[in-house]
Amino acid sequence: MKHIPRKRFGQNFLTDHGIIDAIVDAIHPQAGEPVVEIGPGLMALTQPLVERLGKITVIELDRDLAVRLRLRPELDVVESDVLKVDFRVLAQRLGVPRLRVVGNLPYNISSPILFHLMDCVDVVQDQHFMLQKEVIDRMVADAGSSDYGRLSVMLQWRYAMENVLFVPPESFDPPPKVNSAVVRMVPKAEPAALNPQLLEELVRVAFSQRRKILRNTLGKWLEEKGFAGDFDLQRRAEEVPVREYEALAAALS
Ligand code: SAM
Repeated sequence: MKHIPRKRFGQNFLTDHGIIDAIVDAIHPQAGEPVVEIGPGLMALTQPLVERLGKITVIELDRDLAVRLRLRPELDVVESDVLKVDFRVLAQRLGVPRLRVVGNLPYNISSPILFHLMDCVDVVQDQHFMLQKEVIDRMVADAGSSDYGRLSVMLQWRYAMENVLFVPPESFDPPPKVNSAVVRMVPKAEPAALNPQLLEELVRVAFSQRRKILRNTLGKWLEEKGFAGDFDLQRRAEEVPVREYEALAAALS
């Protein structure tokens, strides 16, 4: 029976085989690797992945799709909301230290998924995600660019990232209203030792009024934290590189 795409689950199914092959090549899966796919849907990526891997763990929320997926013995199906999946427990169950996580993500919850995975980055080898291109532009933006903001700092602190592929709307059924792209995210080996909540707060305060110089936004907050070090507050939030936010949060931690 034909599956009718469900908007509430962000269902835009990949149909372009050239793009599917390019994504699988970018992931470069090797037989036996512990790959976890978020949102396998109708298996556009799952099928070529499992052909190379032998088996794969998939996380699918849509019950009707999960029923179909369970018919395939080479799939380890987790029927759940990915935001409720504990990836540490999953790695433990699979008996591996780190997982490779992939997926053409439901765009309506892409940021919560990114932050959920950041909480268990210690069990992640790498991530390859299809997302709205505009979101990836913000993730990988450098200081000084108009795309540079909270998302850039919070993710670049923890991951090395690159945009690996552009994907136009016609590659999907139904086509989304936006352009898409695929990002590769590799956790950094040794990020600065800092309290992530503090970095989050610092970045939120700094970018609360991105047009103002930091003296007017961050100045008071730093005073409250008892910061006595050297930090140029004559700049705007978007001019400060990630490593400086990182160093400041580490000094305050
Ligand atoms: N991988 C398929 C493809 O590329 O054609 C489907 C991608 S579609 C953009 C997103 C998939 O994520 C759908 O299968 C949808 O049912 C599933 N999904 C949506 N919300 C989810 C959630 N919270 N947890 C797990 N899967 C979810």
